Amino acid sequence: MILDTIVAISSATAPSAIAIVRLSGSEAINLTNQIFSKDLTNKASHTITYGHVHDPMTNDIVDEVLVSVFKGPKTYTTEDIVEINTHGGTIVANQLISILLGLGARLARPGEFTQRAFIHGRIDLIQAEAVNDLIFAQSEQAATLAIHGLSGDLKAILMPMIDELLDILAHIEVNIDYPEYDDVHQLTTQEILPAIETWVSKAQTLLELSQDGQLIKEGIKTVILGKPNVGKSSLLNALLNEDKAIVTPIAGTTRDLVEGWVRLKNIPLHLIDTAGIHQSDDIVERIGIDRSIQSIDSADLIILVLDASMLHDERDEQLLVLTQNKPRIIVYNKSDLAIKEYPLQISALNKDIQPLIQEIEAMFAKHLLATKQPLLHNERQIGLFRLAQNHMENAKQAIEAGYEVDIITIDLQQAYDALTGIVHGSQKASLIDEIFEKFCLGK
Ligand code: GDP
Repeated sequence: MILDTIVAISSATAPSAIAIVRLSGSEAINLTNQIFSKDLTNKASHTITYGHVHDPMTNDIVDEVLVSVFKGPKTYTTEDIVEINTHGGTIVANQLISILLGLGARLARPGEFTQRAFIHGRIDLIQAEAVNDLIFAQSEQAATLAIHGLSGDLKAILMPMIDELLDILAHIEVNIDYPEYDDVHQLTTQEILPAIETWVSKAQTLLELSQDGQLIKEGIKTVILGKPNVGKSSLLNALLNEDKAIVTPIAGTTRDLVEGWVRLKNIPLHLIDTAGIHQSDDIVERIGIDRSIQSIDSADLIILVLDASMLHDERDEQLLVLTQNKPRIIVYNKSDLAIKEYPLQISALNKDIQPLIQEIEAMFAKHLLATKQPLLHNERQIGLFRLAQNHMENAKQAIEAGYEVDIITIDLQQAYDALTGIVHGSQKASLIDEIFEKFCLGK
């Protein structure tokens, strides 16, 4: 398939030592020749050439550059690729982009280089998504997950599951076509059912681990809850003071921080709905609390702060009831004024919060462990996998209810389509475009 030649800045659009302008396509070398001081036509692949780039209209020199030539098919996209390393900042790189567009290149869409690698069959969809996950990884664990996808480890787990599915399907087909060889009904209950059950339980394990991994990748959605003056904002501050704490205020300043990230050792907390906890005004405070109550349902972790310096009051009791079936940690703050010894006590004011951090780490240790192995690593993959699992579950129930095998094959077929969709994508071009639109420009 011959596609047009695309160009983009592949480095960050920020002050930097070097910027990279990348071209991919059959005209990549020709186009570069028109602006470069050396002829690249006969240069060996995977070599770097020093020279100058100029504007062909004015002949003015634009920059002193290093140009890398990669000749297809052994390249990122499998097409010819040229990378022009210019001096940093984005001015020169942008100037080059305009010149190259003027000569007939097309500006690449986000992710289009990787999309081409996929279209030309060099990488599968899992690997393509892993490239993007790696670029956007917020933590070491997220990067490790992405590397597993990139290296094919995840595919190595999925392919046998696809093969097992095909085996089951083949088994049934043979017996539908040649029923005289076997008793089809007996076959389904004696052989197919155990095979499906094994498959479903294997799938369940992978799904659970993947969901654990997702939690670490996306950050543990955490709500700090407690009555006014119990020390919530002091705790937030103490958490933000942790060595590895990073805060990304999503809305506004720290004062009215609504969402933020804190990394405690290896555990990323995605703090949600902390707005209003600094407010002392009664009404605002109440709204703050109401909002927190709403966010309880979507939280992966609730830190319920109680006051160690006084007995529980009605509001504490309400919060205890409200959170009783949720993933929560009950922590007693103001340990310096404690009226008795509590199982988990801290002093947010004195930044003495290690017991709480240890408790959080213990609670999510299993999730951290999950990220060390190959897992489904985004919503699309998990969604399709769940779909496959649901169809297998249907098949299992159909057999148990004594349905004919042809009913089962429909579910098996759909499970197969969902699983192969994880690796190869759907046949629908628009979906593929949608996936790559989430990518970085120039990747
Ligand atoms: P919030 O309304 O729950 O956000 O509570 P704040 O964090 O604003 O704290 C309320 C008051 O309690 C402030 O005067 C804090 O200095 C104080 N406070 C918070 N944590 C502690 C603690 O561990 N020990 C003591 N003695 N006071 C604390």
